[in-house]
Amino acid sequence: MTAKLTIDRTVCGGGGLCAITYPKLFRLADDGHAVALATELDDTDDIAAVEDLVACCPTEAITLTSG
Ligand code: SF4
Repeated sequence: MTAKLTIDRTVCGGGGLCAITYPKLFRLADDGHAVALATELDDTDDIAAVEDLVACCPTEAITLTSG
């Protein structure tokens, strides 16, 4: 299974929940909005973690689509 991670940086409110929770794939850039450190995911642990963050992101900025 593969999946594509995207972050809508125009919607991201900062705060860094994703970067704190899963720094392997997320960090806050200097402008205070999150960036993805990888977008094409094939690790099931990564995909599961991102699925959780899709549900938890307070501004619904994170999207995961099947690859
Ligand atoms: S959890 Fe959502 S709103 Fe918060 S920094 Fe990450 S993408 Fe932005």
